[in-house]
Amino acid sequence: RELKVATGNKDQAKVSAEAAAMFADVFGRAPDGVWQAPGRVNLIGEHTDYNEGFVLPFAIGHTAKVAIRLRADNTARLISSYGDEGLVTVDLTRLAPSNMHGWTAYPLGVAWVLAQQGIRVPGFDLFLDSSVPNGAGLSSSAAIESAVALALNDLTGAALTRQELVLVGQRAENEVVGAPTGILDQSASLLSSEGHAVFLDCRSRHVEQVPLDLTLAQLVVLAVDTRVSHAHATGDYAARRASCELGAEVLGVPTLRDVSVNELSEAAGLLDDETFRRVRHIVTENDRVLSTVAVLAERGPAAIGPLLTASHLSMRDDFEISCPELDLAVETALANGALGARMTGGGFGGSAIALIPAASEAGIRQAVQTAFAHAGFRKPDIFAVTPAAGAGRIS
Ligand code: ADP
Ligand code: MG
Repeated sequence: RELKVATGNKDQAKVSAEAAAMFADVFGRAPDGVWQAPGRVNLIGEHTDYNEGFVLPFAIGHTAKVAIRLRADNTARLISSYGDEGLVTVDLTRLAPSNMHGWTAYPLGVAWVLAQQGIRVPGFDLFLDSSVPNGAGLSSSAAIESAVALALNDLTGAALTRQELVLVGQRAENEVVGAPTGILDQSASLLSSEGHAVFLDCRSRHVEQVPLDLTLAQLVVLAVDTRVSHAHATGDYAARRASCELGAEVLGVPTLRDVSVNELSEAAGLLDDETFRRVRHIVTENDRVLSTVAVLAERGPAAIGPLLTASHLSMRDDFEISCPELDLAVETALANGALGARMTGGGFGGSAIALIPAASEAGIRQAVQTAFAHAGFRKPDIFAVTPAAGAGRIS
């Protein structure tokens, strides 16, 4: 499959030349190559991935670029254009989950997982330049993991499939970073294709490319980055995951994937109120993902709005992972002509998305900014997102 890379108005050659030049500035020679992997929005299907359910994300034009050159020794040197940490130097032979911290845990975590899987990873110099907003729920973390996994896969000749690289990134996130996340983010980054959402069955790992032509339908998906960082929320995320596991155990099923909407009334009698509401979110959310895919095929994107909004209410009231800023973004967009809106990503902050008629874009942007100012919230960052290509080598 051909991988086209969407990077706003810059073309691929310019993006790769920039990353290579920044690499050369720091390391004094050219990289072996430049790889790029996108962030994502999740159109629908939240917290369903680790319940072996369904998700429907799409890659966005914001990407992590990594320029890498292998070294003859076992030293890794890493630097990011973001932050002020400067150059980090580590001995790869001493890597362990307990000694990887900060942003380098993402690229080093990937190197460590590959080594755990028997792949010989030599030393490398790495320059990261990412345009995915950090901690905004648009998966800047999986963008880094996916770009690095793809790069090291190419450079070491490991020849893992993209599906296998998804699991490498997830394992780095789980075992090294310590975030108990599913396969949503890495799948979106590695398996997306331009103009499509990725419909993923997280049990069978079956992937379907679902056409999503927003321009044709005269629609825009607006992302509202509330700039409320969700980085503190690892404990809350783990608590939701634990509730799902408890629910499945009490109901006697392997995962909540195995519970249908019809079985919910019976489940209500077996579970405490909180666990029941967590379960109800997952079960109805899986159903909404399947409905969204069906409605997209039968009636087109303008018709999926109510499903997106129902998903938000389920996350707000049953799964309890929203926050006042996300709720305000959703409510304001809906009150000003959005067809549907929901928070996207793991929750507790980050971004919301709104599906809107292209003609209402200016009005909705203004309304959301005004509402945030009136509420005394931080100024949100609002931008349109379109289904972009998945990760690839760009030079
Ligand atoms: P999200 O994936 O939603 O953006 P995470 O908390 O999962 O949020 O990942 C954010 C982390 O990723 C940051 O704390 C930082 O360690 C790392 N990160 C993201 N972008 C960059 C960057 N440009 N440079 C260095 N580290 C980054
Ligand atoms: Mg993340």
